[in-house]
Amino acid sequence: MELKDFGKNFVFMPDATKGAVRALTTQQLKDTGTEAIVTNTLHLMINPGKENIEKLGGIKKFMNWDGILLTDSGGFQVFSLIHSKKWKGTVHDNGATFKSPTTGDLYELTPESSIDMQMAIDSDILVTLDDCRDAKLGRSDAEESVKRTIEWAKRCKKYFEDVYGGTKETGKLLSCVVQGANYLDLRKHCAEELSQIGFDGYNFGGFVVTENGELVLEEMRAVIENTPSDKFKYAMGVGKPGDIRIVAGLGYRVFDTVLVTRNARHGTLYSKDMDDEVLRVKNAEYLLDERAIDSTCDCYTCKNFSRAYLHHMFRVNEMTGLTLATIHNLRYYQNLIDKLNKA
Ligand SMILES: [Zn+2]
Repeated sequence: MELKDFGKNFVFMPDATKGAVRALTTQQLKDTGTEAIVTNTLHLMINPGKENIEKLGGIKKFMNWDGILLTDSGGFQVFSLIHSKKWKGTVHDNGATFKSPTTGDLYELTPESSIDMQMAIDSDILVTLDDCRDAKLGRSDAEESVKRTIEWAKRCKKYFEDVYGGTKETGKLLSCVVQGANYLDLRKHCAEELSQIGFDGYNFGGFVVTENGELVLEEMRAVIENTPSDKFKYAMGVGKPGDIRIVAGLGYRVFDTVLVTRNARHGTLYSKDMDDEVLRVKNAEYLLDERAIDSTCDCYTCKNFSRAYLHHMFRVNEMTGLTLATIHNLRYYQNLIDKLNKA
């Protein structure tokens, strides 16, 4: 996939949070049919740090990844760490100021420093800093979050263009995040204002599911209806296979979720052979089950190993089990995406 075609077809991006999809080599990642990945700006900002990653030529060169790389702005992570009091810091009109929990060093995340960091990482698709907050948001907090999100998006775009020459000079794309919590008019307002500024992609920000795990479809629809139809739409954090199928129907083309790889590491594997598409390979029933995880899957794991083998790997805490499980889950998602693209 070329960058100019990003988001024209459906695409699923696993999280290579710190510069690797956990338990996989870059070659194994490619072999799952993965064409784009997400890395985490905040983690890379702390370690190895902006200067070092710049010296090393960016994360793509570092991890030998020749596919597409999207970076988040770092905002979601740092704000939730500050809001939950896990990290010391403050969120203000200019972004966030916080301390590294390991070294105690002071960091500033602003619209401008987020762009600098994403450029140092050598991202292909940058995301503007947005003001994301807790799940339950009162009206005035939601209004403030939307106001800041628009303001910061404007600053990000200006900085990206003034300092780096924008898409024209860099060949990179800049996407933005639409906030507005569960207020449909705020979602619409935020989407319209961001569309006025103009971005290469529009990402649905905030929480995509309710406390009961139901998708916030009305809010998601409001963003689709109020942003340019020729730009990509990214449903951040979506999600379960069934949720991807539903949200795809709304017009979203880009997806990511930590679930795929995290579930793999916990032995929760996807399988069309199961009614709910979920096979918990640690369960005792798989001790002697010589069938593949998924009878329809074409991945390395399913072609060569049984449920019993993976069950054993997990029981004895063998690291190879994590690799085989991750390969399968990712391939399962890429097959799901292929199917959506062919439908
Ligand atoms: Zn498989």
